[in-house]
Amino acid sequence: MRTEHLETVIIGAGQAGLSTAYQLKRLGRPCLVLATESRVGDCWRNQWDSLTLFTPAWADALPGMPFPGPAWHTPTKDEFADYLEAYAAQFALPVRLGTRVERLTAGDHGGFVVTTSGGRIEADNVVVATGTFGRTPLVPDFADQLDPGIRQLHSSEYRRPSQLAPGTVLVVGASHSGCDIAFEAIETHDTVLVGRDTGQLPVAYGSPLAKVMYPFILFVLFAHVLNRRNPLGRKQMDHFRQHGGPRIRVQQADLERSGVDWVRGRVAGVQDGRPVLDDGRVVDAGTVVCARDSVRCSAGSTCQCSATTDGRGSSGASSTTRQASTSPDCASSPRRSR
Ligand SMILES: Cc1cc2nc3c(=O)[nH]c(=O)nc-3n(C[C@H](O)[C@H](O)[C@H](O)COP(=O)(O)OP(=O)(O)OC[C@H]3O[C@@H](n4cnc5c(N)ncnc54)[C@H](O)[C@@H]3O)c2cc1C
Repeated sequence: MRTEHLETVIIGAGQAGLSTAYQLKRLGRPCLVLATESRVGDCWRNQWDSLTLFTPAWADALPGMPFPGPAWHTPTKDEFADYLEAYAAQFALPVRLGTRVERLTAGDHGGFVVTTSGGRIEADNVVVATGTFGRTPLVPDFADQLDPGIRQLHSSEYRRPSQLAPGTVLVVGASHSGCDIAFEAIETHDTVLVGRDTGQLPVAYGSPLAKVMYPFILFVLFAHVLNRRNPLGRKQMDHFRQHGGPRIRVQQADLERSGVDWVRGRVAGVQDGRPVLDDGRVVDAGTVVCARDSVRCSAGSTCQCSATTDGRGSSGASSTTRQASTSPDCASSPRRSR
């Protein structure tokens, strides 16, 4: 297997990976971005058709390039994907597409060894920018026991209502994705949403008040209070990761108005192939959409990635680009999805 040597490898060509590459390029530091997609932005293009960002254009720009269009326009997922692609092209960022990182280990003499689908790379620094939410399906244990006639989808596979089988749709997980999908499904199907209440922003999405609150939420609350640099932020981050973040686009009033039957609970088990909620109700579902994500992969159970990120690596100027303590994405090996 051929081995390349690079100063910095960035795994992932989303916002984090591309903006890191942009900053390194500005500093004149060589780097290479690796990504599984065949086209920059595909991680957004592959979301469901009706998805629009909840962040307005003014908050979506990456360093060095404004997001086109009016400041309060909320881009569609395809507009945002195209922006990422244009960004990589505009700054001629070194992106190698169609390359999956399969393993990341510490090198014998410092640095890291990145094993990819296209060969082996030795790197002084590795930036893991493989994302967080929505890419690593978590399929609950009860999924195996459901009647094979029930269509099962993970939210990462959901694109449009025509994928839903006739009959009731049960959406499991009531954070962003679950609420969005339930809100769309109710237009064509009876829809039951099951999941705990993860809270919601105190202002309605798109309202005039939101225009005042959003800058505060993004630039004060998230930038200075709720971030990983302080205990409060770390605690909140763990909470969001384990239980889901607050609703933004689709709020409780929208769900109630639309007729989504929201059960604040969980799926307790399966009876005769049908899901049973913890209030004892059996849901005669035609489709079950699981809208929960795995936050961290547990090596050996859900994935083959082994990130031995023990802090070794080169020091000095290059240490601006340190590895994060997560393994590369395991989306290729969800526990189960059918
Ligand atoms: C449904 C949904 C809606 C959202 N809406 C918004 C919004 O409106 N506004 C907002 O600010 N945020 C939103 N987010 C959150 C946003 O998606 C993330 O915060 C953001 O995408 C994280 O960017 P990232 O660069 O860290 O990772 P991602 O954008 O997830 O990019 C990950 C990259 O890593 C690559 N990768 C992963 N594993 C490997 C591997 N093993 N080998 C090689 N490459 C790999 C992928 O191919 C991809 O290029 C939303 C998320 C979801 C799921």
